[in-house]
Amino acid sequence: MVVMKFGGTSVQDATAIERVAEIVRSRHDQHPVVVVSAFAKVTDQLVLMGQQAVAGDCDAALQLLGMLQKRHFDTAQQLLGAAEGRKINGKLEATFAHADAFLRGLAAIRELSPRSSDQLLSFGELLSSEIVAAALAVRGLDTVWVDSRKCIVTNARYTQALPLAEETRKQTQDKLGAIIAKSKIPVMGGFIAATAEGVTTTLGRGGSDFSAAIVGAALDADSIEIWTDVEGMMTADPRLCPDARTIREISFNEAAELAYFGAKVLHPATLLPAIQQDIPVFVLNSGNLKSKGTRITARAPRSRDTFRAITAKTGVSLVNVVASRGVMVHGFLRSVFEALDRYAASVDLVAISEVSMSFTMDSKRLPTALISELERIADVTCEGQQAIVCLVGEDIHGKPGIAASVFDAVAAAEVNIRMISQGASEINISFVIQENDVPKAVRQLHARFFSPAVVAQAAAASGKRTGKIRKATR
Ligand code: ASP
Ligand code: MG
Repeated sequence: MVVMKFGGTSVQDATAIERVAEIVRSRHDQHPVVVVSAFAKVTDQLVLMGQQAVAGDCDAALQLLGMLQKRHFDTAQQLLGAAEGRKINGKLEATFAHADAFLRGLAAIRELSPRSSDQLLSFGELLSSEIVAAALAVRGLDTVWVDSRKCIVTNARYTQALPLAEETRKQTQDKLGAIIAKSKIPVMGGFIAATAEGVTTTLGRGGSDFSAAIVGAALDADSIEIWTDVEGMMTADPRLCPDARTIREISFNEAAELAYFGAKVLHPATLLPAIQQDIPVFVLNSGNLKSKGTRITARAPRSRDTFRAITAKTGVSLVNVVASRGVMVHGFLRSVFEALDRYAASVDLVAISEVSMSFTMDSKRLPTALISELERIADVTCEGQQAIVCLVGEDIHGKPGIAASVFDAVAAAEVNIRMISQGASEINISFVIQENDVPKAVRQLHARFFSPAVVAQAAAASGKRTGKIRKATR
C-alpha cells in the first residue's frame, strides 16, 4: 500500500490534476491512498478572508470567496464536464454556502479564535479533495472521497493539533481498510482532522505531509510518496549552484538538519510517524513522471560523496558579546543566556570562550531590546547580512581531516569565515560568512565534495541502489 500526497502546486489547476491522475494510475497495483493539499495559495487566501472579516470588511472577504468559488467551479468544469460536474456541484455549493455564512459570522462577532480559524482553513482541503476524487473517477480510477476528519483524531490544540495515535489508527483502518480491500482508491484532504468530539482541527501550516505520514503509519504502508514541484531534495540550491543534483537517498536526521538550515522542500518533523515505523518516504516531482526523487529513511546507505548536501541560510545576524574588562568573568555566560531566555531568542549557532560568546540569529527575529540589554553587561557588536553555510552528512562522523578540507575549499574561494561550529551530533559542519559570499562558497564546496552529476547518475543506474528503491516501493 502506498500513500501518495500531492501538494498545492501539484493540484493547482486542471492540467496539474490531470497529471495527478496519470501518476496515481501508475501506482494502481500498489493500492494507493491519495492525500491532497488545498489548491495552491488557497489556504493563504482563506487566512486573508478571515482577517478581512474580523476587521469588519466583510465585503472584501466575500468578494475573495467569490473568486475562490469561481476558480474551483471552473477547474471542476474543465476536469469533469457539465454532466459529471453536476454530481459534485451540490457538495461544492454546500461548502461555499457554509464558508459564506461563516465569514459573515466572523464579521458580526469580530473575533477569530484558533478553533474557528481551523474551521475556516478546512474549506480548502475539503474542496480540493472532492474535485480530485471526482476527476480521478472520470479518468477511470475507482476513487472514494473520504472525510479526513473521520480518520485522523487529534487533541484540541487548534491550528497545531497533534494526532492521538491509538484512536487514529483504529479510525483510519476502519474507514480506509474496507475501501482498499475492494481495490478502490480513497482520496482525502491533508492538513485537516478532528478531535474525538468531532470538532475540526488542523495540523499546522504545511500539514498535509504530516497527514500523509500519519495515514501511512496508521495503515502500515509500504511507502509514502510526497509529490511536489521540485526534483526531490538537492545536493545544493540549484539557483546558486548549477551542478546541484537530486539526492537519491538521505537519512531522516540528515533531512532534518537540512530543513533547519534552509532547505525548504518539506519539514521532516512531519514525517516522524512514518520514520518511526521504518516506512520509507519519497519526495518526487509531479511535473516529471519519471522522477526518481529522494528517498528518506531512518538510516540511509553511505553516500558516494563526503557529504549529503550543502545548504545556506541567509538573512542572519552575527552577534559577538565580549565581557567588558573589569567585569567579573564568573557569571558572564549565565547573564548572556538569561538575557536570551527572557527574549525567547532562538539562536542558530553558538561559539563560546571564557570571556566571549558569539551567536547567530535570524535577523528578522533579533529583538533590538535584547542587544541593548546585552550591552549593559558586555561589549556587543552585531552584524547583519550574514549567512550560515551548513554541510550535512552522517559519514563525516569520526573521519579526520574533513574540517580542514572544508575550510581549505572556502579559502580557495577567497571567502572569509566569521565563525565555525561543528555540532555534537557530528553530522554537520556549519560556518558563518557574509551573505554575498554565499554563491561562490557553495559552488566551490560543491565542486570539491560532490562528484559530477553524470558520473553519479550512471553509477546509480547500474548500481544496486536503484534496485533497492524499486523493491521498497512495492
Ligand atoms: N494547505 C495547507 C497549507 O497551505 C496544508 C498544506 O498544503 O500542506 O498550509
Ligand atoms: Mg508543503
